[in-house]
Amino acid sequence: MTIIVRLLNQLKNIWKNNGNEKLEQKDISCIMLFISISIFTIFGLLLFNKTIFYFMSYVYIMILLVLCALKLLTLRRGGVLVSVAVLFFIIHLTLWLIFDNLFKSENFLRIDDLFEALMYIMLLIALGNTDYKIKPKYSIYFLLTILVLSVTFINPKFLNSNKWPLDTVIDVILINLVLFRAAPHMESFIRGLAPDGRFFWILGLIMAWMAEPVDGMLESGIKLFDSKFIEFLFVSSVFYIAVGFIAEFQHWKTELWSFTIGVGSLLIAWIAGVIVSYKATPLLHHTWSAIGGYVIFVLSIAIIMSNKVRINRTNKQISGWSMLIDEITGKFSKDTTVEEIINNVFKILKKNIQNVIGISFNIPDNLLIGDVSKYSLPLYDRKIPIGFIYLKEQTVYIEDLEAFTPILGRRLREEITKAEWRDKAITDPLTSLYNRNGYNLLIFDIINNCKENNAILSVAMVDIDHFKKINDSYGHNIGDKVLISLAKTIKGTLRKDDYVVRWGGEEFLIILVDTTLVEAKRVIDRIREKLILIRIEPIDWNISFSSGISGGAIPDNIENIEVWIEKADSALYRAKEKGRNRVEIAKPD
Ligand code: GH3
Ligand code: MG
Ligand code: MG
Repeated sequence: MTIIVRLLNQLKNIWKNNGNEKLEQKDISCIMLFISISIFTIFGLLLFNKTIFYFMSYVYIMILLVLCALKLLTLRRGGVLVSVAVLFFIIHLTLWLIFDNLFKSENFLRIDDLFEALMYIMLLIALGNTDYKIKPKYSIYFLLTILVLSVTFINPKFLNSNKWPLDTVIDVILINLVLFRAAPHMESFIRGLAPDGRFFWILGLIMAWMAEPVDGMLESGIKLFDSKFIEFLFVSSVFYIAVGFIAEFQHWKTELWSFTIGVGSLLIAWIAGVIVSYKATPLLHHTWSAIGGYVIFVLSIAIIMSNKVRINRTNKQISGWSMLIDEITGKFSKDTTVEEIINNVFKILKKNIQNVIGISFNIPDNLLIGDVSKYSLPLYDRKIPIGFIYLKEQTVYIEDLEAFTPILGRRLREEITKAEWRDKAITDPLTSLYNRNGYNLLIFDIINNCKENNAILSVAMVDIDHFKKINDSYGHNIGDKVLISLAKTIKGTLRKDDYVVRWGGEEFLIILVDTTLVEAKRVIDRIREKLILIRIEPIDWNISFSSGISGGAIPDNIENIEVWIEKADSALYRAKEKGRNRVEIAKPD
């Protein structure tokens, strides 16, 4: 009893939440129990054989269908299409009830048949509008099974009767087309790759597919079943389809214990239905109970398997994800830039997750690496959107990825913030060159690199000539402009392996890797000549600098470098004394 109360509570939860919200408790089993109870009810009402009960059962199923259609309307695009299909069926059912029961109309093709056909066409469109791309291998097995079963189902009397009602012919063709279209979806379901909700609509399609030809047999006067059984089968098949799509779009899940109750009651309802409506050939009824039970059984095994597959996959992925996050965030050294971080993340994601084609960040700036697509996963840092991961196509792993992205987002944001602060701490804000902190951080790596590669190193100290005069004549802002201009000129002239540090106010330290003193002098002279040619308004004289160079050997340790800087300073002093606008090489010891 408590189980049923629990299930009904979950049912209430499911119905209350709309499509945009994440469901707290999603359980397919309660829906299954609900359907089983509904089927019992419909049977009960139908079998009273009184018009009032007969109509009550249809009113009941109609209310359920309208509820489903409304719910489907709130879901994403495919949901709307299925909703329209359900609406077509409701119109069909209403017209059919009126024609068959009120007017006893015997026309072969009526307006209600049109709506039934439209429902199938709508389902075809809906199935064509899903995002899954699946290998067709299993679809072929599935279609073969359907074909073999078809041959078994259709009664020889019916085939020979030459009285195929046209609407049945159309519907049989259409439902087979729908099954054909649905085959890849079923295949992924059986392999455990589809959401659990697919169980329902597959079951619904199979029921409709079983009901259609028998309906035709009834219409052409071959009475194999109580016609109420077929009505019931057909009507509940659409209900299954509608509920199935809701469950699929909302990613409802199953729990094993409650699933067993749900499937059990479904099986009992099915078999009871066949047996209770037993009137014509008893043998055929038994066959049908067996076939129906078999279909439910196979699908149940499929759903259990699919759960198992998913659990295994999730376990594997959890360890995969944590390793991935470790790899992503463990890679950065103290001087990794934001750009390098994001580039690295993209590379690692691409390597580990199939389908990743791009990544974008809105923090710090809008930054995109790779390509954009319509399939994107938002990256969050504590619920603040910070970017997207773009996928080539929809993937069945999307849920697992969604669970992983908040952790990734948060760790990445931390790394990016750290890198930004690091950047700020070691960069001079005016010229964007390294400051003294930057030098202190970098110099060890530079020395190590030189030692590893047996590369010599030269240092140049640069000081702008008569800079005070610029400040005094034109103000500090113009002085700043000169500093920026010189920084740009230096940067534009050096190779990317060289370094520039804003050493003091208008003094710059240039570190030239793998460069002799003579080569260094040539480089610094080139910069000097470039600067002289640059006009900085409103200064009406040419701006020059003086420079001293030292080093030209493989550095052993930081003391080497400090000595060279001192010597470069002395050489700079000499350059100033000799009249400025020149480069002096430090004297050898
Ligand atoms: P020289 O080097 O040729 O002997 O003459 P100088 O006029 O350049 O002499 P000095 O190196 O002593 O002058 C440095 C001046 O640079 C002093 C200071 O006012 C100015 N200065 C330092 N930092 C900044 C800065 O960030 N912006 C500006 N506009 N001026 C600065
Ligand atoms: Mg100076
Ligand atoms: Mg100066």
